[in-house]
This record gives sequence, structure tokens and C-alpha cells, in this order.
Amino acid sequence: DFGHDGFGLADLPLRDALRGQTPYGAPQLEVPAALNTNENPYPPSPRLAEAVGRAVAAAATGLNRYPDRDAPKLRAALADYLGHGLDTSNVWAANGSNEVLQQILQAFGGPGRKAMGFEPSYSMHPIIARGSGTEWVPVPRAPDFAVDVAAAVAAVEEHRPSVVFLTSPNNPTGTALPLATVEAVARVAPGVVVVDEAYAEFRREGTPSALSLLPSLPRVIVSRTMSKAFALAGARLGYLAAHPAVVDALQLVRLPYHLSAVTQAVAVTALEHAEELLGAVDRLRAERDALVDWLRGHGFAVADSDANFVLFGRFEDRSAVFEGMLERGVLIREVGPPEWLRVTVGTPEEMSAFRAALLEVTGRA
Ligand code: PMP
Repeated sequence: DFGHDGFGLADLPLRDALRGQTPYGAPQLEVPAALNTNENPYPPSPRLAEAVGRAVAAAATGLNRYPDRDAPKLRAALADYLGHGLDTSNVWAANGSNEVLQQILQAFGGPGRKAMGFEPSYSMHPIIARGSGTEWVPVPRAPDFAVDVAAAVAAVEEHRPSVVFLTSPNNPTGTALPLATVEAVARVAPGVVVVDEAYAEFRREGTPSALSLLPSLPRVIVSRTMSKAFALAGARLGYLAAHPAVVDALQLVRLPYHLSAVTQAVAVTALEHAEELLGAVDRLRAERDALVDWLRGHGFAVADSDANFVLFGRFEDRSAVFEGMLERGVLIREVGPPEWLRVTVGTPEEMSAFRAALLEVTGRA
């Protein structure tokens, strides 16, 4: 009965920083409407799936060899997509932006160093920090989920973190940051400032990307992902744009051949079809804005959202609402401040299931 002998975590020489921690664990359940991990609800078209299949078949003929370690073709395609005068030397890619963030912590964080974030924010930032032995310093956001510039600058000056995370648009609140906030933090930060722009493509008009700041602020890093707007969460491809010196630093910690030839082929093919993949973004933004209006119209509190999800409330017992929704086949997320819930924007059919279930569960029908 190997594995059923009472031997457990407590019997292993786990690092102190990991004792008592829980792993990242958004539920993966088979439900009619999975609106809990900010995925894109529109799968690749059959035409694109075939193109990906052909690219993988071509890569398969060379799988006896290690992949191209520096992924230059993919990085050039990503730089091209980003524009802003960026080229291959400014771009780095890994298996999801989570891995990009981990490499940043491995290079710039570590024992005796601090990483700072403005909470509520993406739950993986502190997990990745702790995993790299970096002390996590949380700073609270304002009640409207904005980052107060003076408070942020003061916190950076007090703690002198090696890594600062600014998530824009922020998960789980949807809040985009003014560029002035990023600039003010970057001017006083002694280390790198990571602007996590996983949801960049979903921003409303007038909220700019931090990409434009890169030439003047060489310790700013913008991280992006193909998991959301590009509808490619299953392929695992994240990337960053930064000064070439940052890319040089990450080469010191990346594992050799970390991006498989299959991943590179899939991502390059997806980028060749960027227009089709990004076509759904406008629909999702419109659906998001309609959802915000509908929720407000029914008396719910809603955080302004520049992402493909919406944080709404407020519920005395949010777990009861979450469970009631799940019973009706709608999986949302219990995340963020205690009285709030997060829902990912899905297809029109999924959103009407969400609206019907929410009215029933909250008795506002
Ligand atoms: N950053 C933010 C803010 C996210 O919400 C997510 C995904 N939930 C990620 C990074 C990581 O995404 P991936 O690893 O799929 O690129």
C-alpha cells in the first residue's frame, strides 16, 4: 500500500517558506459554462487548427534534435506583433507568462531580497516570489482598486524591493493603471518593475500599454501572454518585452531548451493567424461592457474592467452565491476581497446562462 502509510509533507525536508502554503488551484470542473480562469471562450477555427497540425507535423520530423534554444523566429514574430520599434533582442518567451515571471524572480529576486505587489492582485505573484526565496511585500490598493501613487512611491522607498509588480489591467479587479503611475514607481524603484499586461488587448480606448515607456526606463519589463487574447492557453506561451540587457539576464536562469520545438511551431503559426485570433477580442470587449452595464442595472457593485473578466459584488456570503451558480452549471471564481466574485466573459450563450443563474441565486429575478 505504497503511498497510504501516513507519510506526508511534514515528514519531508520542505523549505520553511513552503510550510503551510497551498498550491495554486482554480477548480477544473466539467460544467456547461466555465467562466473561472479568464480563458478565451472561442476555440481556434478548423482552418487554424489544421495549420497548427501541419506545423506540428513538420516539427515532429526533427524531434530527435533539441529545439532552437533561443527561439529567434518566434521572438521576431512576437516583436513584430508588439510593434513600438521592438526587435528580437527585446523579446523573451517561455512556457506561459508564469514561467517568464518565475525567470524574472530567479534572476532579480532571491534570498535577502523583496518583491512587492499591490493587492488584491494576481495570486501567482506572491507564490512565484516565495518559490524563488524572495520575501513578498503586499501593499493595499485604494478602495476603488486603483494604485495610490504617493502610497506606492512611499512603499517602494521604504522597502526597496528588487522586483515590483504592477498588473495592468489588474487581475482580479480589471483595473488598468495610468502610465504616470508606472513611471512614478519606476523612477524610484531600485530594481526591476514588471508591468504584467496579460490582459492588455482587452483594454478600453485610451488606456495605453507600458510598452511606450521601455526606451526611457530600461528597468521596466512588460510581460504578456498568448493565453488570453490569442485564445492559446493550452499551448503555454508567455513573453516579455524589455531592454536587451534584461533578456541577457534571463538567459542565466532559463533552462536550456525550455521551449519545445512543438510549442515554438504552434506559437509561430498562431502569430501568422493573429488577425483571426484577435478577431474575437472586440466581441469580448463589447460583451464585457454589456455585462458591466447589466450588473449595475441590477444593483450589483462592479469594478470598472479593462480585461476579459469582471469583479462584482457585494455579497455577505459569496461562497453561497458561488455554490448556487455552480449548481446551475455556471463556474465562476471566489477570488479578491471577501464580498466579491469574479466572472470571465464568455460567449453570449454562456453570459445569458450566467445572468439567469445570478438572478435566481440572488433572488433579484
Ligand atoms: N498574469 C496574470 C495577471 C494572469 O491573470 C495570468 C493568468 N491567469 C498570468 C499572468 C499567467 O498566464 P499564462 O501563464 O497562461 O501566460
